[in-house]
Order: sequence, then C-alpha cells, then structure tokens
Amino acid sequence: MKNIITLAAALFLFIACGAQNTTTDSKSQTTSLEITERPKLVVGIVVDQMRYDYLTRFQSKFGDGGFNRMISEGFNCKNNHFNYVPTYTGPGHASVYTGTTPKIHGIIGNNWYNKETKAMVYCASDDNVKPVGTEDEAGQMSPHRMQTTTFGDENRLFTQMQGKTIGISLKDRGAILPAGHTANAAYWFHGKDEGAWITSSFYMNELPQWVKDFNVSKKAKSYLKEWNTLYDISTYTESGVDENTFEGGFKGKDKATFPYDLKKLSKENNGFDILKATPYGNSLTVDFAIAAVKAENLGKDQITDVLAVSFSATDYVGHNFGVNSKEVEDTYLRLDKDLERLFNYLDATVGKGEYTVFLTADHGAVDVPSYLESVKVPAGYVDNKDRKERFKTFLNVTYGTEAIVENISNNQIFLDRAKVKELGLKLSGVQDAIAMEQLSYPNISKVYTATTMSTTSFPVGVEELIENGFNQKRSGDVILVNDIAFISYSKTGSTHGSSSNYDTHVPLLFFGKGIKHGETFNKTIIPDIAPTISALLGISFPNGATGQPLGFVID
Ligand code: ZN
Ligand code: ZN
Ligand code: ZN
Repeated sequence: MKNIITLAAALFLFIACGAQNTTTDSKSQTTSLEITERPKLVVGIVVDQMRYDYLTRFQSKFGDGGFNRMISEGFNCKNNHFNYVPTYTGPGHASVYTGTTPKIHGIIGNNWYNKETKAMVYCASDDNVKPVGTEDEAGQMSPHRMQTTTFGDENRLFTQMQGKTIGISLKDRGAILPAGHTANAAYWFHGKDEGAWITSSFYMNELPQWVKDFNVSKKAKSYLKEWNTLYDISTYTESGVDENTFEGGFKGKDKATFPYDLKKLSKENNGFDILKATPYGNSLTVDFAIAAVKAENLGKDQITDVLAVSFSATDYVGHNFGVNSKEVEDTYLRLDKDLERLFNYLDATVGKGEYTVFLTADHGAVDVPSYLESVKVPAGYVDNKDRKERFKTFLNVTYGTEAIVENISNNQIFLDRAKVKELGLKLSGVQDAIAMEQLSYPNISKVYTATTMSTTSFPVGVEELIENGFNQKRSGDVILVNDIAFISYSKTGSTHGSSSNYDTHVPLLFFGKGIKHGETFNKTIIPDIAPTISALLGISFPNGATGQPLGFVID
C-alpha cells in the first residue's frame, strides 16, 4: 500500500512538473522532465572521527530531526567499513568522494614522504596557488595531489559545468578533497586571530561578497562563549565520568571538566582555533553551509548541485578528550541539533524530498589505550625511542650505514634505493631483512614489503587493507602493523589510522530523494558511496572508482 501511495505521489509530482513546463517550448520540457527524476541537490556529510557506535550509544538522546530522521526515513548500512589502511582524514575524504582507495587516488596519508623530492608533503598543499581571504599560507591549498575524479567532478562534466559543487569544512583537506578538481569553491576555516572562512586561487581570485559578509558578521566570535553540557550532565549515562586521567583538555584550565570558558581559554589556545575543538565549530560550519546554499542558490533549479560538508570538530574533540568522554557525548548531541537545523533549512528552501543526503565518517577512533588497560583490555603505547635505537644499531651492523633508510613515516620505511644499488644489494633482499628485524620489536605484529604488495593480491584481512592503501609510486618499502589498540600517541585522548574495527567501522546513512527506507547488516565499504550517488544521478562513476553501487538503497 505504501508503495502505491509513493508511486501515486511521484506520478502526481511528475505530472505537476510536466504541466508547469507546458508553457515553455517542448525541448526544454523534455530536458526538465528527465532531470526532475534526479535530486536537485546532493549533500554529502562526513563526520570526522565518527565511530559506528556513536550512532547507537547516543541514539536515545538524539532528537527526531537529525541522525534519527536519517535512520527513520532513509537507509542505514550498519556494517560499513573502510577497506584500506591508513585510516586518516585526507585518505578518508578522498575515498568517500572518489569511490576508491589510496592505491588508486594517491592520497596515501595526511602527510607523506615524497620519494622524488625527498621531502614530506601535505595532502592538500600547493605552492602554485595563492591564499584568498587571508595572507597566511593556510590558503595555499588545492586538490592537485588527488589523482582521480570525485562524483562531484563527474556531475560537473555531465551537466556541462552547470551543476555546482561546493566543499565546506573547518579543515582544508575536509573541504578540498571532497569538492574535487572542477569545484566552484572549497572553503575552510582559518582560526588564529582571524576566524575567517578562506579559499585559494585554485578556485577564485577573490572571496564572493556573501563570504566576506559572513566573515565580518562576527558569527565566529559569537561562539567564544561558555561551553557547558546541552542537557544536565547527570543524564549523560552513555559516557565515563567527566574528571578522569584519560583526557587532555585545554591550556589554561587544570581539569578537563565542564564548563569551559572559551573566550578566556582562547587566549592560550590559538585564538579562534579553540572553536575547532568544541561543538561550536560544527555549529559554525552549519551556519556557513546554510549561507552557501542561500547565496549560491544550491538546489534551486533542476540541475543537480553538490554540497560537501565535513564536520571536523568531532575529530579535534575526540583527539583531545577521548572516545569515552562526556565532551564527545555532548559534541554529538549538539551535532544532532545542527544536522536538524541544516535539514530543516533544506526542506524549506530546496524542498522536502527534493534533495539527497548521505552521512558517513572519514575513520573511527580507538578508545584511549590507557583507559582500556585500566579495564584489562590489551592495549598500550608504542615505544618509538626504543625501536629507533634498535633499528639504528641493526642498520649500522648489517649495512655499515644508517643512510640506507631515508625516511620512516605512516608506519612505512622508505629506503634510499640509490644507496641500495651503490652497496650492490638486492632491493627485495634489503626489504625482507628489514621487515624481519622490525617484526622482532615489541608491539609490531605484522610486516610486509613493497615487493609483496606489488606482486600479490589479498582477498581479505589486514593484508587486503594494506594492499588497497598501497600506492606503488608513493608508498614505502616496508609496511609495519602495530598490535591492535597499541598506538603512537599521548597517553590522553584518542587517535586513529589502523586497520582495526574501531578505526574502520563507521556509519553510512542515506536519505531523501531516490532513497529507500531500510537497513542492512551486509558489509558495505566506503568506496561504494560515490558509485551509489553516481548511479542515483545517472552519471559516470568517478574515473578511478573501484566500489560498487549499493542498488538496495536506491528506490
Ligand atoms: Zn579525520
Ligand atoms: Zn572531561
Ligand atoms: Zn584525527
């Protein structure tokens, strides 16, 4: 019965739209009719560091209009995972929007060692562009290191550049990588003493008037206020006690406990940057996203636009206070309200049922290992100093020089290949010897070589995740895997980057135009998202996509 009603409603809409167009010529009527089958706007939402269980842990405290609206009206993929390692922000955002993994799109980390220039590079930095909206080098960013297209790029190509794409995030990489190469704009937040949304000359030479207006509106400043819990803290039964030894906290305050006087604390915590580590950073992101929808007329005509929003505050709060903190719980309860505000605005402007939303994360996070240890779960911290010393000794004894290793980063060892040749050694032999040495160190559980990764295909397990994250041109010679829940990090707060479930299992929700209501425990992977949206829009898949469209979510 429900299906018949939906069908009737769709038919009515179809006829109504058609009727509206009978006044225009028949050619535009045909075009218009075809396009009304597609959403007017696709909103991609990435919640930085959102573990799957945040959806279920806090669900009873969420309202009806945010996360729960997506669940009750849309499709909930409950067993959604990253299928590669490392699970960092840059690779995460690139993978969601390109429908593939670092092996193909080339964003192998947030920062990585560039084998050609022999220097570390940042995933979004670009010396060839100028900052716009600031003088600071924080504006010298572009997606040029990402080697494949996003679904937003494909939508731009499909619509002859008529459908707009705009990326928005506090973090530059959270805005730039999702928006892709052909984006009209990507905006990110520059804190410090400026507190402004900025961009780069990759997109434009001057900020649009609406962005300038937003920046002078003192909106950011209005959030430098008290951060207390949204509801009575005694009702926050889904998280640990507020005062504990597993949290970082802010400079200038002894205890990591509510309330936080952000205006006062901002002085010692990089000015406006403190907002990034509070739920108000997400509120400011929604304020700006709404301003963008309004000023850029997103979703106003029949040609599909794409808005990519990434909420970064969740990541900063998680790093600072840890997965089990009251601060994380409050951040999600407030994000739920911000999502509701965004959806209500889109209902009013684009129209209920006229836009499509997906929500996922760029990675999860580990429970603070010192907390896990306190409840007897195997966990801990890697002794990098000890490893380094032992490795130095090994290299000197075995090869007569440490210089055979050029760089160690992102759990990868990069060899000086010229040096290997000069010493008359076989590359794969050196890789094997170093791998075996590393495997003997505490808390290293697995090792793989570049040679193995280039010559073997792994269908399952951590090996598959390493293979999907391994880029022959950009990755290192030896890949190291730490014991599960052992991290290289401060003893307070949470981090991420591993191939373990706590980092790979993240929410995936779809709702709105063209989306069925339902849920599944069938495994889905992050690279499936972009082909699913492409299929919904009837456009080409991103050019490097390796995921599959999730046909069961499409109506
Ligand atoms: Zn992240
Ligand atoms: Zn606390
Ligand atoms: Zn992070």
